[in-house]
Amino acid sequence: MPEIILPEVELNIHSPKNPTEATVVENYICTAENSPNIVRHMTFDISGTELEGKFKVGQSIGVLPPGETEKGRPHKLRLYSVSSPSKGEGGEKHLVSTTVKRANEEVDGTFYLGVCSNYLCNLKPGDKLKVTGPSGRRYLLPENIDDFNYVFFATGTGIAPFRGMIIELFESGFKGEVALVFGCPYRTDVLYPKFFNEMAEKHDNFHYIKMISREDRRADGSKYYVQTAIDDHEEILSPILGKENTLIYLCGMKGMESGIYHNLAKKGFMDYLRLKGQPESEDPNDWSWEEVKTMLKPSARTFEEVY
Ligand SMILES: Cc1cc2nc3c(=O)[nH]c(=O)nc-3n(C[C@H](O)[C@H](O)[C@H](O)COP(=O)(O)OP(=O)(O)OC[C@H]3O[C@@H](n4cnc5c(N)ncnc54)[C@H](O)[C@@H]3O)c2cc1C
Repeated sequence: MPEIILPEVELNIHSPKNPTEATVVENYICTAENSPNIVRHMTFDISGTELEGKFKVGQSIGVLPPGETEKGRPHKLRLYSVSSPSKGEGGEKHLVSTTVKRANEEVDGTFYLGVCSNYLCNLKPGDKLKVTGPSGRRYLLPENIDDFNYVFFATGTGIAPFRGMIIELFESGFKGEVALVFGCPYRTDVLYPKFFNEMAEKHDNFHYIKMISREDRRADGSKYYVQTAIDDHEEILSPILGKENTLIYLCGMKGMESGIYHNLAKKGFMDYLRLKGQPESEDPNDWSWEEVKTMLKPSARTFEEVY
């Protein structure tokens, strides 16, 4: 296994106490228009700020929404994964992109609108906003990118860093194997479908796997999730996961990691994991969900960003 050399990054050049101003240049829907889970691709112009050229793919940008909480305090910072490559959206270092889902929830008959995501999604080109960052020290592509193969697992907006990483890998002429496993509830929720389909058509070494959980059923009646891809698409994933120089990255919904780790363990891919404690049984098939959740942790080959 080659050494994983992570790039040096600059952190929090602008903090919540000292934010800078960005301008929206793009804000468009990147799911199907009729998706019940609308997500938008947004690009910000950060020219003239100290953030220009500073975001590495995998890092996040902070957004300070205007207004106050019910208690009269300013709203807190929210983080959004950068979905542009390190050299900037479209290769322009003054442009940084992200991928924002409107967070809404009904609880006990009351409908709550997520403060920051809805603020962002309603912005128009030309609107200004307060941003901070960069944030994130480890969730990065190695500097020696060609020394590895990559398996990316994303749920929903967890696709954001992988859009940037995949652009970065293939624009640099990457020859190794890349698999992207993307999970969402409905086909209408697939993010950036045109971009990823075209990448898969263009590059034989890019494998694009979609897991749609609320439409089709697996043979045993269970749902398709990102973690079931380890079985359902074994013929694609096992050969890549089995290479000694493969790294895995997970991004998206908190909780997604446990199912992936358990299925990796069941297939014998223990190198991607670290055991915290000793499960009762040696056989991963016998591990309880509690053991899986508390004892399976990422190893040096695994990069995890869940929220
Ligand atoms: C490292 C990192 C990267 C991230 N990357 C992304 C990304 O790329 N894209 C993305 O979309 N998000 C990302 N997030 C999540 C993002 O930071 C926000 O948490 C998200 O947008 C929701 O923020 P909000 O202000 O819209 O919702 P909030 O106002 O914080 O509300 C959160 C949720 O609670 C509900 N709610 C609000 N008030 C109540 C109440 N009183 N009772 C019950 N429910 C309530 C809201 O409807 C909403 O669903 C990331 C988070 C982290 C930590």
